[in-house]
Amino acid sequence: MSKDTVLLSAEQHGIAARLVATGGVVVFATETVYGLGANAYDDAACRAIFAAKGRPVDNPCIVHILDETCLDEVIVGADEITRALFSVFSPGPLTVVGEKHPSIAPAATGGLGTVAVRIPAHPSARSILRAAGVPIAAPSANRSGKPSPTTFRAAIEAMRGRVDAIIDGGACSVGLESTVVTTDSGCVRILRPGAITAEMIRDRLGVRVEFSYGAASHVSPGTRHPHYRPDARVLAVERAEIGATIARARREAWTQPAPGAGIGVIVLGDEPSLSSSGASLMGEASESLTATVAVFPTVEAMAAGLYESLLEFDRRGCSVVIVEMPPPYGLGTAVRDRLSRAAGIE
Ligand code: AMP
Ligand code: MG
Repeated sequence: MSKDTVLLSAEQHGIAARLVATGGVVVFATETVYGLGANAYDDAACRAIFAAKGRPVDNPCIVHILDETCLDEVIVGADEITRALFSVFSPGPLTVVGEKHPSIAPAATGGLGTVAVRIPAHPSARSILRAAGVPIAAPSANRSGKPSPTTFRAAIEAMRGRVDAIIDGGACSVGLESTVVTTDSGCVRILRPGAITAEMIRDRLGVRVEFSYGAASHVSPGTRHPHYRPDARVLAVERAEIGATIARARREAWTQPAPGAGIGVIVLGDEPSLSSSGASLMGEASESLTATVAVFPTVEAMAAGLYESLLEFDRRGCSVVIVEMPPPYGLGTAVRDRLSRAAGIE
């Protein structure tokens, strides 16, 4: 596939919207990750999304709308909890699954009778939605299986030559794909964890929250397929195991040196904590193997920078990336979910 891809600056959202309205495929920023969008009413345009991504056709897209007044145009018979979820958490990184409106193109939902809907907060996504005047089906703008782009540069690297346009929306503030939920006889079931956490939904809505991902991931179709994997091998480990894992990766890579290969390390908090765990991070002058470390002060910062760090380590030719798993609550749950998949743990 080689298309002429127009690169647009942030203020050219009118051109992006016109392309969407006339059957094109456009990459644009949302607050979660960059999306690969097409008119959700146009089946041929939605099929082009799957071709650009190399995405299995049974992996449904998220349909983006401008506000709650558009909800009944995409979901049939949205229940009370669905409406409450949108009114409390939207615009924002929450996607709710409901019964698909017949006017939504079958390709957008991978042939399913249900549709996943989100109201994005990012000004670029909102300007395009407003000007296009149609719901926009948009999965993440990565090539299938790879980490999602969260910067304009990564979006260009992934999709130039495969789409009609890519519009600059800067760096995505959340950095992880949205929380996906379904509502089910009075409870909210999380199909994919994200920045809207179980704790937040419980606190704000006072409803029961259940979990259907990881081992139970067949419930959300897309989560079956391999995801978020850079070219480098990812080792996702708990904090206490980082030192030993770096040492092991160095030994193993040392026996099979790849030209220019190094180790990437992604950790939370202060780098000195690594020395106390016994790791010597930078390679000795005599070694051909070096480590590059990305340190994030908070889980939020790690989520925002995670995919870009993985992609940057690929650009530098790292053979292995060792990542610290954050604690398993709040946003840490979503980061752990993506890391487990990137590492092929489940
Ligand atoms: P992406 O936009 O690339 O983050 O992928 C969209 C994801 O949302 C899919 O891979 C599914 O996990 C989820 N999703 C989309 N539509 C549905 C649906 N109808 N039912 C359940 N999950 C869905
Ligand atoms: Mg995706």
